Amino acid sequence: MNKRAFLEGFLTASTVAFGGHFMWRRMTERGPAVVDRGQFGQLPVPDADGLESPLPGFEFSPIDIEPSLPAEGLPAPAPSLEAKSLQAESLQDESLQDESEIEIPQLSEQQVADYLMKIRNFDAVFASDLYLDPGYETLLLKTTQHLARVESYMGHGNFNLLSFDDMLQAGRNFSSIGEFQSDELNFLEEVFFANPSRYGFFGKKINADITDAIAVNEVAKIDNTGHFLFKGESLNLYSQIKRDVGDSVILTSGVRGVVKQIHLFLAKTVEAQGNLSRASRSLAPPGHSYHGIGDFDVGKIGLGARNFTADFSTTEEYRKISGLGYVDIRYPTDNLFGVRFEPWHIKMS
Ligand SMILES: [Zn+2]
Repeated sequence: MNKRAFLEGFLTASTVAFGGHFMWRRMTERGPAVVDRGQFGQLPVPDADGLESPLPGFEFSPIDIEPSLPAEGLPAPAPSLEAKSLQAESLQDESLQDESEIEIPQLSEQQVADYLMKIRNFDAVFASDLYLDPGYETLLLKTTQHLARVESYMGHGNFNLLSFDDMLQAGRNFSSIGEFQSDELNFLEEVFFANPSRYGFFGKKINADITDAIAVNEVAKIDNTGHFLFKGESLNLYSQIKRDVGDSVILTSGVRGVVKQIHLFLAKTVEAQGNLSRASRSLAPPGHSYHGIGDFDVGKIGLGARNFTADFSTTEEYRKISGLGYVDIRYPTDNLFGVRFEPWHIKMS
């Protein structure tokens, strides 16, 4: 198969191709357009209780896919944050020199302002957002539902570690999952190998191959969480945080393999009605998640899905964590990855 030709068809260069009604809405609204949910197929979307009541037939993962209310205009950027903070001088900051993944060239003031507007309003829709070609809508839904069947059958914990080859085998072995078809496999491969900088994500590739597997003997299951951490640095850091902050801190997502990240990203893309840019402002595309090599998420017990919102940064737990001095977060405010502020995502060196 000619991958390059396929990719050209896979990603559309603008929203024009996504459907006349979107264009019409844009022309009748001022500023960045915001589309309603439900236009992207008839798929149900998770509600605030999605954690407790997964929707029959289509199971969104409760982790990282927090409910997002239909936006009614853009929230104002935080007043303390000025566009100037990302201008040329800070791009040359020494602390950023080793971040080889940063590919943002010298930007104009307007480009910086546009970029910051997007990651501060990550769940809004912008005219320059890039969409999955609408011709792939059916395949997107079918493949996402198929992955949900795998997760449901294998269990959430095991699914975190599942390799692509394990996924194929599970499909062949269990009729309630069903074998993956060639159109689905081509689609998964194209999603994995597409260059996400085209739709606005600038983090580096973590997994070179879609078949990269997690070595089970290198991870430890964390009690009462359903998640795993890599033994050594990650596990030690998590244990230290628990000791210093207290037992109200809990692991909310640990090691994630390629398949888990693919499922999260596709489900997010469904939720975003095919808007790949919007999806990637909240979730690293497949193969680009640092959860594959040691990063992990923490939350406050009892905060539920709000652990994956900026609300977490208002908790006593976050205040303590940020004061420890030995903890960094991967996606701070106004980061250069094209990703929203994620106060819960702990960075491993
Ligand atoms: Zn995370």
